[in-house]
Amino acid sequence: MKLAFNDELEELARRRGFFWPSYEIYGGTAGLYDIGPNGIKVKQKIENLWRDHFITSSLLNIVEIETPMVTPQRVLEASGHVESFTDPLVICPKCHRVYRADQLAEAQLKIKTEGMALDELKKLYSEKEIVCEACGTRLLDIQSFNLLFHTYIGPFTAESGFLRPETAQGIFTAFKRTFEAERKKLPLGVAQVGRVARNEISPRQSLIRMREFTIMEFEFFFDPDQVPDLDSLQNKIIKIRLSDNTLVVEKMKDIVARGLLKHPWMGYFMASAVDFMEKIGFTADEVTFQEKSEKERAHYSAQTFDVIVSTKRWGDVEVAGIAYRTNYDLRRHSEFSGQDLSVSVQLAVPVTKKVTHVWVNRAALGKKFGKYSVDIVNALNALAESAKEEELGNKEKIILNLPFGKVEITSDLARIEFKEETVSSEKIYPHVVEPSFGADRLLYAVLDHSLRNKEDRRILSLPKAIAPYDIAVFPLVEEEKLVHKARAIFEMLKKTGFDVLYDEDGTIGRRYARVDEIGVPWAITVDEESIAGRGVTIRDRDSWTQWRVNEARLSEAIEALRKGLDLKLLGFA
Ligand SMILES: [Zn+2]
Repeated sequence: MKLAFNDELEELARRRGFFWPSYEIYGGTAGLYDIGPNGIKVKQKIENLWRDHFITSSLLNIVEIETPMVTPQRVLEASGHVESFTDPLVICPKCHRVYRADQLAEAQLKIKTEGMALDELKKLYSEKEIVCEACGTRLLDIQSFNLLFHTYIGPFTAESGFLRPETAQGIFTAFKRTFEAERKKLPLGVAQVGRVARNEISPRQSLIRMREFTIMEFEFFFDPDQVPDLDSLQNKIIKIRLSDNTLVVEKMKDIVARGLLKHPWMGYFMASAVDFMEKIGFTADEVTFQEKSEKERAHYSAQTFDVIVSTKRWGDVEVAGIAYRTNYDLRRHSEFSGQDLSVSVQLAVPVTKKVTHVWVNRAALGKKFGKYSVDIVNALNALAESAKEEELGNKEKIILNLPFGKVEITSDLARIEFKEETVSSEKIYPHVVEPSFGADRLLYAVLDHSLRNKEDRRILSLPKAIAPYDIAVFPLVEEEKLVHKARAIFEMLKKTGFDVLYDEDGTIGRRYARVDEIGVPWAITVDEESIAGRGVTIRDRDSWTQWRVNEARLSEAIEALRKGLDLKLLGFA
């Protein structure tokens, strides 16, 4: 297969070591990408900023765990992925090319198809002429395709499993242990950064749609009756496009007050997500929260917003999502595993409520009904759950219709009792808001966002916090005394703790061009003047301004630059 590099960013990414298609020497495999030496530095800095922002610096209790990629089938049955994690696929009967049916229809008919049911798509394909892009044959054969990567766990294909499509299920299945380790207190956030795999039908959008990628997400578990303190973020302006297409740009507290969100915690993490996006170089205005319609939402979600930024080649791209998963996952895993994953929460005021209780004289019941006693007790328990006091309260006898016949249970054997109880706690399944970020999509988006032209040159104006290096050091020319001094400065800055790039090959112009293209914010050059004790030059990536700075004050000057201060005003230059 031939992979196209027909775009500026893709070309730069490959040439300057950010990313390229995996297994290129074998022709490449669609949807799989290698992240190169400069790409991994930027990606790791994004990941570390994410950790610092949402975990380390958070005033909430958010902890990180790590769980496996290989997931037993049962877990993904409980989560609903085995049944529902599908995309519609259409195959060309002539050339056998495979397409995502909704995307192909969207491209050819210029209509929105996201979330369309399989039947609706079949109808659309039967009514409109949608053709194979390669050979022009009309397409009709639409199927549902599950995106899970299937595998086997252990030899002899004994147990069926999948690569995880999200890190969330590992968090839900580890909830009980994590909750206990964290002193059984809500709210509790449990984060995970890791690889996930989705067998996309036809990925053709660079790092935007991959078959294996890195997710940074956390499940934030809370009692839905407890309202968060929104203080610190309440005035953050967020831009929301509702599912009916209304655009709302308001303070988070006002959006919450207007009831546009299913829970105030959604607002809290949307505001926090804007803060994070600002740290990696986007303005609040460049970040839109697009609400998914009911049809478009995942099976577990009560409300989801895609976090959208704009890219030059792919247009609007989803780089994160904020989903209100309610208590769906914990309930399902309780049912499927038989383990009680509910937690006890204190009530603000104790409440008196009516409880039902089945009283049984086991010895007498056993004597009369023998092996059928168990079925009788089960039937009474089931009845008690749905019973009303007026119907069954303290009855002399209860008639049960059981598979083996009709039985009469007198109150000396068993009875359903109704009583009032005052309780100060109750069992709940915690609700969950899930902020989930795609690390590779963010990498792509920040590179795209930072790439600009100046004269005939390209500059990657990455924010200094995520640039691959803090600073570069060059000798002006490859001359021994200059090289010697430049190496000494490189070593000194490394030891001080800066991430430094050293380069002495080729002309100074080419070296400046290289660091501009990989986004190094500043370059230090050692020249003849430096040998004479008149300091070194520091060149700014974006403005190409140069300052001459006293060597003894170099690390101080870099610190000042990193803080955004003016060297001239500070008297460094
Ligand atoms: Zn075809």
